[in-house]
Amino acid sequence: MASGFYQVPKAVNEPVKSYLPNSPERIELLETYKKMYNEQIDIPFYIGGKEIRTGNTVSIRPPHDHQHTVGQYHRAEKKHVTEAIENALAAREAWAKTSWEHRAAIFLKAAELLAGPYRARMNAATMIAQSKNVFQAEIDAACELIDFFKFNVEFMTEIYSNQPESAPGIWNRMEYRPLEGFVYAITPFNFTSICANLPAAPAMMGNVCIWKPSNTQVYSAKVIVDLFKEAGVPDGVINVVYGDAKMISDTVLSHREFSGIHFTGSTNVFQSLWKQIGENIHNYKSYPRIVGETGGKDFIWAHASANPQQIATAIVRGAFEYQGQKCSAASRAYIPKSIWNEVKETMLNQLKTIKIGSPEDTSNFINAVIHENSFDKIARYIDAAKEDDEATIIAGGGYDKSKGYFIEPTVIVTTDPKYTTMCTELFGPVITIYVYEDATWKESLTLVDETSEYALTGAIFSGDRYVIDYATDALENAAGNFYINDKPTGAVVGQQPFGGARGSGTNDKAGSVWNLLRWCSNRTIKETFVPATDYKYPFLEQ
Ligand code: NAD
Repeated sequence: MASGFYQVPKAVNEPVKSYLPNSPERIELLETYKKMYNEQIDIPFYIGGKEIRTGNTVSIRPPHDHQHTVGQYHRAEKKHVTEAIENALAAREAWAKTSWEHRAAIFLKAAELLAGPYRARMNAATMIAQSKNVFQAEIDAACELIDFFKFNVEFMTEIYSNQPESAPGIWNRMEYRPLEGFVYAITPFNFTSICANLPAAPAMMGNVCIWKPSNTQVYSAKVIVDLFKEAGVPDGVINVVYGDAKMISDTVLSHREFSGIHFTGSTNVFQSLWKQIGENIHNYKSYPRIVGETGGKDFIWAHASANPQQIATAIVRGAFEYQGQKCSAASRAYIPKSIWNEVKETMLNQLKTIKIGSPEDTSNFINAVIHENSFDKIARYIDAAKEDDEATIIAGGGYDKSKGYFIEPTVIVTTDPKYTTMCTELFGPVITIYVYEDATWKESLTLVDETSEYALTGAIFSGDRYVIDYATDALENAAGNFYINDKPTGAVVGQQPFGGARGSGTNDKAGSVWNLLRWCSNRTIKETFVPATDYKYPFLEQ
């Protein structure tokens, strides 16, 4: 067999297209959107490369037009989940033995396909069924996913090239084996890129997977499945099942060969899965890897030395892009009294210009929230804020679900820094602001640190380097992704590895060496060239 120490193409971030009026990318995307919007697609699930249809279907409806359907997907039963596991395990040997350059080539090909022929379709699917505007779809479904594929290939080779020292007469080697068994990927609705990366990252390292997408992301999941297939992911390596999350998880987590979970979603669900894994621990062949990125209550903290316009813009973008449905979205802010009026005025002026509606109209900055449950939950918190003495709504507060699940970008100002919307993740376009006395800025940092169970993202704004230094230290454990004079959203693969601690997850940093390391189980090999032939050491001589 011919061999070589191959170098992979240097990963660079995918440029974000502008989608200016009349640009070719805008024309192509909107045409694709229109076409897909007016079609009915029938989406099967996939086991061992086969399409399975059960007839037990669910309609797919755009959140911004919930009476319209764009198709349906089929739900799996327990026997299908068992079959998916069997198919994954049957595919394992050939895949685990496939040399790394071929695994790399498949995902590099996926990146190229997505950058070209799949781009408009992936973005349009994300706009239609997850209600993202053009820009939000582009930075997620196209750019971030291309970056995940390309950078992970580079990180994989970094891992493989990390080798131990060898003393004279021996050769030490490190093998990065895939986990023994299969990996379970459970993905959220809000990022198409995360959904594809959760099964793709373990698969790239030689693992086989069961992937359970969110019920509200099945539409773009179908495009991901087509992309994987065309890129050459072999049958059985990534098996996809939709349906009852609890039934699927119960079946998967009770299997002896379950070897790892790659989860992104809410904290409660992750904690219940962790508990279930603990309860089954005596059944497993190996100790499963548990990787989870979960909720957040992400903050913006400002000092009196900060620029009010920059803070206001960070709030508007950081809290309201994609309707606040980013795990990193700012949902609580702490602003000093001396600059509050200027921050408020700039923010309110910016908010007045924001339009809400369907992503097909590219002048809409805000689209719909994902589903009715989410809409109702956020509306309840807004209604409560309208009644509560310690809260005042200074912008937004309106909502309407007659056509789509639309909620106005809402700003609550509270006199109680522990007010419920300062602590609870709402996952919607709502930010709560606490205005503090300038002189208490150090105490306000303690509040930031101690107010929520989460530690995902956070941003500080200041023009004073001593203050920046102090706040960076005071908030050391308050965020896994910490921003200085920038909004707390928009992490880029290869630039700001992403993940939080405390209640926000295991902080394994998606799209990084640290994440990929979780999907291999190392074997150390020591080879001695001329082994000893007598047991006696020199010290035994008298
Ligand atoms: P969710 O927890 O409702 O769902 C996530 C996945 O878990 C879905 O596939 C869902 O079907 C599945 N699930 C739900 N109940 C389950 C159960 N009992 N057993 C097994 N699986 C179950 O989350 P969501 O609404 O899709 O996404 C929003 C959440 O995800 C927010 O809390 C957000 O902060 C978090 N999130 C975190 C990150 C991060 O990197 N930290 C990124 C994106 C989203």
